[in-house]
Amino acid sequence: MSFVEVQHIHKRFSGVYALRDVSLSIGRGEIHCLAGENGSGKSTLIKVIAGVYRPDEGRLVIDGVPYSRLTPIDAIRSGVQVIYQDFSLFPNLTVAENLALNTQLEQRRRLVNRPAMRRIARRALERIKVDIPLEGVVGELSTADRQLIAISRALLHDAKLVIMDEPTTALTQLEIRSLFDVISDMKTEGIATLFVSHKLREVLDISENLTILRNGRKAAEGATDCFDEATIAYRMTGREVSGERFHYKAPDGDGDGDGGEPVLSVKELRRSGVFDGVSFDVHPGEIVGITGLLGCGRSELALSLFGVLPADGGRIAVSGGEVRIDSIQAAVAAGISYLPEDRLTEGLFLEQTISRNIFVSILDRMRTALFFIDFNAVRSLVKRWIRELSIGAPSSEVPVRTLSGGNQQRVVLARWLAAGARVLLLNGPTVGVDVGSKEEIHERLRTLAAGGTAVVMMSDDIPELVQNCNRVFVMHKGRFVHEFGDELDEAALTAWFAGLE
Ligand code: ADP
Ligand code: MG
Repeated sequence: MSFVEVQHIHKRFSGVYALRDVSLSIGRGEIHCLAGENGSGKSTLIKVIAGVYRPDEGRLVIDGVPYSRLTPIDAIRSGVQVIYQDFSLFPNLTVAENLALNTQLEQRRRLVNRPAMRRIARRALERIKVDIPLEGVVGELSTADRQLIAISRALLHDAKLVIMDEPTTALTQLEIRSLFDVISDMKTEGIATLFVSHKLREVLDISENLTILRNGRKAAEGATDCFDEATIAYRMTGREVSGERFHYKAPDGDGDGDGGEPVLSVKELRRSGVFDGVSFDVHPGEIVGITGLLGCGRSELALSLFGVLPADGGRIAVSGGEVRIDSIQAAVAAGISYLPEDRLTEGLFLEQTISRNIFVSILDRMRTALFFIDFNAVRSLVKRWIRELSIGAPSSEVPVRTLSGGNQQRVVLARWLAAGARVLLLNGPTVGVDVGSKEEIHERLRTLAAGGTAVVMMSDDIPELVQNCNRVFVMHKGRFVHEFGDELDEAALTAWFAGLE
């Protein structure tokens, strides 16, 4: 009998399906892998199994007990432990405290018994055969050590199934090996693991059974032995690419395909310890993608091009003229604009109205040109951009806070476009944006490119890159290591990702 049965689960977020009729079963001591691209529904499924999200349809059976309304407490009591990507540890407490505080609190002790705590913690770490100083402050430990602590804490809670959400993202090859050893040891004790990953090689190495999600549906399942890298990549991506691909047409018309003079030209750009030797050109109308694993340096590169973290060396030219980008003002003056990954903290004044948010970017231009502010011109410009980007709002005078994520993202876009950007840098343009708005934002980007704007898209969303970019650079440890042109497709890009460490 299996330990967890997920039966015909459906989960929607504001009407959009994140999971559609997903079933899955995990036996005692089984190492099961859940694979799928970004946005395929993996984290949502985990949260359903942990009782954090209530499914719209379907049920769960855990340890023989059926639940239609599983709560997080039910899940923990039946032995389901989740290790989220942030590990949920207290960085300011010691290893021993992180491991044993809960147990102490459960015993309702008024005084924390330090020797007992150390004993519990030591035994917990011995159980997974690791040696981490008990008095070390967790916030100062490596990612790998914090992860091992999270695992031993899960085992302290009598875990029968440990779920790990993308556990290897920030680990070295060696650390991944020792994590796999821990997982195998757990198996010998009858503890199952649900291992979430989109790295094909790992999936093949560690798991016995495999479930692949694509667009919220189960795309394949079975014994891992029956799969190889190519079939997993195929199942993860599917051949049928949803929607039209972007086709770049070089505007120069002389047939050499280089599109004439680049709008943005970057030569040997370097920022010490972050990225080095970065060179690329973006021609008018191109959408160029930059991708890579977490920490590869792409966000920092965007911030350098936007003057937030100025580069230490190299050259940047806009429309043929060399520019010094040592501040945001310099970047904006050169016609470079930036749509940040975290629009809520970096991009918008949430409490201000839509029109004010757009207005701030054109204020300078309106003022310097005329020495006074032409409010009628401002109003009609704001109106135009709200219309052009189909920002869904009752009026331009509502606070941005009240808009959906997709519409907030459009306000940021509108702001930069109104400011007359020639180069648009986007970092994770549709992270956390629902599927419908995502399509629309992509549509807008293509229209902008068609109008001659140079678009640079930093993203790790493979379908997004393949559908929208005419070229994609892979960045790894601060360097461009590969360029995809016409041969760009989802399987090829997925395979590249899998090969990165
Ligand atoms: P994965 O973990 O495979 O990357 P997720 O489960 O995080 O995928 O997301 C699946 C889909 O559900 C995505 O389209 C995502 O935007 C959407 N989604 C996830 N969580 C929420 C939420 N809390 N609200 C709205 N949409 C969500
Ligand atoms: Mg996820």
